[in-house]
Amino acid sequence: MDTQMLIGSKFERGTETEEAILNPRTGETILSLPEASPAQIEAAVAAAQKAFVTWSKTTPAQRSGYLLKIADRIEAEAEGFAKLEALNCGKPINAVLNDEIPAIVDCYRFFAGAVRSMPGLVAGEYLPGHTSMIRRDPVGIVASIAPWNYPLMMMAWKLAPAIAGGNTVVFKPSEQTPLTALKLAKILADVLPEGVVNVVLGRGESVGNTLINHAAVSMISITGDVATGKKVLQAAAKSVKRTHLELGGKAPVIVFDDADIDAVVSGLRAFGYYNAGQDCTAACRIYAGKKVYDKLVADLSSAVSTIRFGQADDTENEIGPLISRRQRDRVASFVERASELKHIEITTGGKPGEGGGFYYQPTVVAGALQEDEIVRREVFGPVVSVTRFSDVDEAVNWANDSDYGLASSVWTKDISRGMSTAARLQYGCTWINTHFMLTNEMPHGGLKQSGYGKDMSVYALEDYTAVRHVMIAHG
Ligand code: NAD
Repeated sequence: MDTQMLIGSKFERGTETEEAILNPRTGETILSLPEASPAQIEAAVAAAQKAFVTWSKTTPAQRSGYLLKIADRIEAEAEGFAKLEALNCGKPINAVLNDEIPAIVDCYRFFAGAVRSMPGLVAGEYLPGHTSMIRRDPVGIVASIAPWNYPLMMMAWKLAPAIAGGNTVVFKPSEQTPLTALKLAKILADVLPEGVVNVVLGRGESVGNTLINHAAVSMISITGDVATGKKVLQAAAKSVKRTHLELGGKAPVIVFDDADIDAVVSGLRAFGYYNAGQDCTAACRIYAGKKVYDKLVADLSSAVSTIRFGQADDTENEIGPLISRRQRDRVASFVERASELKHIEITTGGKPGEGGGFYYQPTVVAGALQEDEIVRREVFGPVVSVTRFSDVDEAVNWANDSDYGLASSVWTKDISRGMSTAARLQYGCTWINTHFMLTNEMPHGGLKQSGYGKDMSVYALEDYTAVRHVMIAHG
């Protein structure tokens, strides 16, 4: 197992506080890893600064070649990456191998192509005797900070557009899930010129905080909690750094009375509970029309009660445990508080799983009201609430009545109702008759406190490059 950080071309262990890296299925410690010292962070930033001088001058075709090599190497070692991610996050091995790794490989390949075909405005004479043109240049050194729910995928979403755009990076994985980042660091050191990507380990309040406040960092890209995003903004304000924030979500799902309820139930069973609900787009806040509400609650509860988890043969598992005891207890406390309300019924689940792992039963919370905490706050666990609505305005108003604005969906057989409802939703993404589906060609990102900045797609390349105007006087 790779345990060393990548600083320039050197592999080093951190020298500071050790963090226990846990197996969430058992609660046991896999190993302990020390975090980076201030001097090691300084060295990583210096390596990125040095590399920027030449990397920023490479052509899109050259950077594309490097990205394709990274993609090929991840693909060749797919099984090793999947095993490590499954070990560190508790994810079912098949979910990592069949869903995540192909999407990760495709992310590097997408940006390898996209950077060679960036669209732009035409050049022309907007003042007589002067030709203007637009350039897209690298921003500089990017501090990239990732969460624990999809460690290798978040790394791809951050690294691929950043290095495609000609930037260099100091990357910090979550202190809870660094193992695949350390494995990828070996490949990055093989493939990329020295210092283009550096990987440092450590907690947010120490290593993360030093990075986001570093004077030489030009851009901070973070996926994490809203509270963390606010700290990034405070740090960025001091030296006016560019920020790219992907924060939480609380996705509303509007189910109209004419929806195909079997499709809704199978969609929610998959998209409400995937990754044990630790997903910022999880279909977790259901608004059901009054005619379909009872059937939806009954059918969903019985479907959710069949979700397989905690089996000894991991190939049978559909979801894993939560990432930590703390996260499991947090999820449990949300459900406990909800179940104390008279109008709420827990129709399936509602308890921690058995054994030493951080499991929580897939849960349906029926009868929830708009003002309930379970409807308003991000639970980030396998818990879906269902609320009855009486008309489209109520459903749309409730859906939009949220601090978050990342993802949403509408389920109806009437496509014009689907389109008109989608147009009224204040979310970065709205799916109609599906949920959760992402593709590297399309942007992912939020509104409101879900943050701003897009991952994936050409919009991410725009975020990781600076628009510049160059004007030539004809003389
Ligand atoms: P978190 O905010 O606690 O941590 C995210 C990362 O930020 C970690 O690497 C952490 O070490 C670092 N960090 C924490 N405090 C910091 C500080 N003061 N300075 C610098 N870095 C700091 O979030 P988490 O618990 O790891 O992840 C779960 C959250 O991420 C959820 O709220 C979820 O919705 C969100 N998320 C959002 C998206 C999205 O695309 N919008 C995707 C995945 C996860």
